[in-house]
Amino acid sequence: MSNRSIHTLLKNWDEECPLTREEAVEVLNLPEEEMDSLMECAYALRTKYKGKKVSVQLLTNVRSGNCTQNCAYCAQSKDSQAEIEKYKRVSDEKLYGDNDLVDEKHLARHCIGLSGIGFSDEEIEDLADRIREMKKKDTQICCSIGFLTEKQARILKDAGLDRINHNLNSSRSFYPEICTTHTYDQRVNNIKMLQSLGFEICSGGIVGMGESKEDIVDMLMDLREINPESVPINFLLPIPGTKLADRDISELTPDYCMKVLCLARLMVPKSDIRCAAGREVYFKGMEPELFKVVDSIFASGYLTAGGQGIDDTMKMIKDAGFDGEIESTDH
Ligand code: SF4
Repeated sequence: MSNRSIHTLLKNWDEECPLTREEAVEVLNLPEEEMDSLMECAYALRTKYKGKKVSVQLLTNVRSGNCTQNCAYCAQSKDSQAEIEKYKRVSDEKLYGDNDLVDEKHLARHCIGLSGIGFSDEEIEDLADRIREMKKKDTQICCSIGFLTEKQARILKDAGLDRINHNLNSSRSFYPEICTTHTYDQRVNNIKMLQSLGFEICSGGIVGMGESKEDIVDMLMDLREINPESVPINFLLPIPGTKLADRDISELTPDYCMKVLCLARLMVPKSDIRCAAGREVYFKGMEPELFKVVDSIFASGYLTAGGQGIDDTMKMIKDAGFDGEIESTDH
């Protein structure tokens, strides 16, 4: 497709005609002079489906380290030499304290992450007890967790868990380059099982691991089919001690990162598009532009006393001309 036709396509955006694979790759190759058209198109979709709202999530790491898997980007993987804190279960004080912050600051969601890929039924029952306790505050809770059996998923559903994060991370064909201890299709199947039980789904990927533009497009095409409620896009922050520690990230220019986020908005327009890991590095000072495309972020620096970091995040959203507000109407 010529630049003229991609220009026309962006100017006369038709949601009934989804981008083809070739057109989507072309968006990632768009010349600088077409960036305004791309941003305008993404912004129109963002305001159509999300208004000017920015959802802020708070993340608590419930289980850290000692994973049996070998995901190349991850500090918690079995092959990682990264110096990280490792624990099997975060204290109740920390977990419930964070949940209280989500409630008090009217954040959209409390995301809780657990390292690892498999869990015993006892561990799931234990997690379910803590979810039940947190749901007394009526916070929205999303759990980032490995593969669940259907029985385990039902236990968490009955406990009130709203959403599950399970990322595709990259394309099916690139997946063996970043992980060999489980497969892309295991991930897809897990998501389908969770969707069939009525869970909301959060699923996205990581950009900058050495994948091609076609890989990013293929991942987004699969996400378009899954149609998750939330699509987190992470930009690689190479962690010393991991396999990707020395990965060249010079390709991750603000322009390129923005094109990826715009493409996500174009391809999965009704989902929350979250700029997750890397936001503070790759988009520093560009928040007014960033929020024209994305409507979801994690709170930064919330560990500071009294949730000061959350207040700073809210101020940053307001200063950018957007509204930081709760996501759920029944909060
Ligand atoms: S399964 Fe999760 S915790 Fe384990 S290495 Fe992969 S990303 Fe890290």
